[in-house]
Amino acid sequence: MKLVFATHNKNKLIEVQALFPKNITLLSLDDIGCFEEIPETADTIDGNAILKAEYIREHYNLDCFADDTGLEVKSLNGEPGVFSARYAGEDKDSDANIDKLLANLENRENREARFKTVIALNMNDHELLFTGICEGTILKEKKGDQGFGYDPVFQPNNSDKSFAEMDLSEKSKLSHRGKALQYLIAYLAK
Ligand code: IMP
Repeated sequence: MKLVFATHNKNKLIEVQALFPKNITLLSLDDIGCFEEIPETADTIDGNAILKAEYIREHYNLDCFADDTGLEVKSLNGEPGVFSARYAGEDKDSDANIDKLLANLENRENREARFKTVIALNMNDHELLFTGICEGTILKEKKGDQGFGYDPVFQPNNSDKSFAEMDLSEKSKLSHRGKALQYLIAYLAK
């Protein structure tokens, strides 16, 4: 069985393929000849995952799934949320995003936050959503140099390490994306 993963990122595809059952071959957007950026114009994380999956269904008529992730900080009313990638500007600079987040949290007692990943699956004319949540805290300064995005300042609950101090397999066991993928894989294995 072939399933499109709506990403241009080859590394993400390889990582996800490694977790999938061997009878499912994942295809990237490049593999199906889709080289454009799929618009992410919804105002929720769920909405963007759905938009991307429906775009592939509409334009390519293939079974597919798409993911979208955001960091939701409690004392900032859920910011940066759906704007996580562009929090400090359109150039999606992770260091600038972290600086802005730490500045906005400077005088706040409550540093609780959570990552949320939503995967939208479009298969056999059905649409299903799988949501993975990882609860944690925003650190006062960066720790570790692995991972990407907000990893250096996010520490999951029940851990004394930031995500940026974990290798990928350790992070995936706890992470929002890892959980959402586990739910998707369990569904596909039925
Ligand atoms: P995307 O939907 O996977 O592209 O994620 C949107 C943005 O959320 C990224 O540009 C990162 O800033 C942030 N982000 C997503 N996943 C993670 C993660 O696992 N660790 C840290 N930041 C992340």
